[in-house]
Amino acid sequence: MTRGSCLCGAVKFEIDGQTTDIGMCHCSKCRKVSGVASNANLMASLDNFKWISGESELTKLERPDGWGAWRCSACGSPVPMLHPGGGAYFVPAGLLDADPGVRITGHIFVGSKAPWDEIAGDGPQLRDGFGSEKTN
Ligand SMILES: [Zn+2]
Ligand SMILES: [Zn+2]
Repeated sequence: MTRGSCLCGAVKFEIDGQTTDIGMCHCSKCRKVSGVASNANLMASLDNFKWISGESELTKLERPDGWGAWRCSACGSPVPMLHPGGGAYFVPAGLLDADPGVRITGHIFVGSKAPWDEIAGDGPQLRDGFGSEKTN
């Protein structure tokens, strides 16, 4: 079991069972959400995910193009959000309070990374989403 929380501690959640590996997304929207070069996320199925606190106080942004971000209303940390396709939560890996046991499986949307973004590690770097052309 893995637990996570936001910066102020109002939002808490736990994940039972297996998650996906961690994907590092370098797209322009993830830069806005995270404020940094890339956004580390994993997926947890609805069955494995449980809010412990703070779910009723989330700020849920949804852009007209369907892309969104959920945040803690008190501290502004990005928090897990329902994947637009449903069936899973999209979980910011930085919220996890212990080692989830999974590692970075690859870098996506490297084709639109910031000019100052230097990617470390040996993971595959993909031009767009998972399954797209490798650039390294
Ligand atoms: Zn918070
Ligand atoms: Zn992204």
